[in-house]
Amino acid sequence: MKVRVGVNGYGTIGKRVAWAVTLQPDMELVGIVKTKPNWETLSAVKRGLRIYTLKENMREFHARGIEIHGTIEDLLNSVDVMVDATPGDVGATYKKLYESFSRKAVFQGGEEPEVAEVSFNALVNYGEALGKNYVRVVSCNTTGLLRIIHAISRLGRIKRVRGFIARRAADLKEIKKGPIEGIILDPSKPPSHHALDVNTVIKDLDIITYAVVVPTTLAHVHTLQFMLERAVSHDEVLDALANTPRILLVDGGLLKSTAELRELARDLGRPQGDIYENVVWSDSVLVRGDEVMLTYAVHQEAIVVPENIDAIRAITRLKERAEDSIKITDETLGIKRWL
Ligand code: NAD
Repeated sequence: MKVRVGVNGYGTIGKRVAWAVTLQPDMELVGIVKTKPNWETLSAVKRGLRIYTLKENMREFHARGIEIHGTIEDLLNSVDVMVDATPGDVGATYKKLYESFSRKAVFQGGEEPEVAEVSFNALVNYGEALGKNYVRVVSCNTTGLLRIIHAISRLGRIKRVRGFIARRAADLKEIKKGPIEGIILDPSKPPSHHALDVNTVIKDLDIITYAVVVPTTLAHVHTLQFMLERAVSHDEVLDALANTPRILLVDGGLLKSTAELRELARDLGRPQGDIYENVVWSDSVLVRGDEVMLTYAVHQEAIVVPENIDAIRAITRLKERAEDSIKITDETLGIKRWL
């Protein structure tokens, strides 16, 4: 039997997760919740999705000739899991409703960690989410950090991590966000929240991150420095990265910018030019004894999509082992097979 999934909030993350659910052999997308009949509603209509809304907003949809299947309560009656992809801090306001229907929920990284029993990353702590009612898939930057930390931890104990994050200012559709000039310290007094968020998943890791916001919509770029307990070789580091799911190595001689990377993803038929992997520039990997440095890109709109799919499998116990869930998710989304 398939797990029945609803998606509340059909924006940047919600529409991608909804589409990814439709590709899973063990899941069924029952419908999505939209509060407003905006242009993103048109994409749901054209894709033939069932649209639900709040009772008080039904008339607005009818006025624009958009068919509504029911209220959010109707959707909750028909699903096993709700993926909440509403804007940051809005998800928490829905938790009582999900609880009142005894429905499991997957929240996003814009929520406080307290909204869920577990902050989640498939590679790091899949097992902790097994059978839970509420999990939070950590943000795009934190997901990117955790995957690389997981890969490097395969080489031995990490003594500390220091990171610098260049954050994209906005997503492509965010017409009211900036900056369009200038680079902003975020925050002016470090550490940035990303390191603290990593610690919601790996509690005892010594990590500090600095961040700035840069005028781009394409991707974040992180540079990390690891101090390990033992000296490692350059080849060992490259092997660890290459053999970790959802990490792609690219040659900086061929591809040296996030612009070329996103364009290549479009050229090669990735939907919306989405990149689910951390893309590490292999030339950036620098090893000096027990010290490792590297730089990689994170496509903010896409990186958490596979994690949401794995979170659904973990809480519903569709798969008991991370590797089994990751294998299905990655095969269905074509992860690491397009380059
Ligand atoms: P978004 O604004 O693109 O989409 C949010 C959707 O929720 C929109 O369809 C909006 O109409 C709808 N919505 C607004 N208020 C609502 C309400 N009260 N009830 C139901 N729906 C409502 O936001 P997003 O970028 O998709 O972010 C969603 C979550 O994912 C946030 O927690 C965010 O922090 C997290 N996240 C975002 C990104 C990113 O780069 N955009 C990356 C990783 C995680």
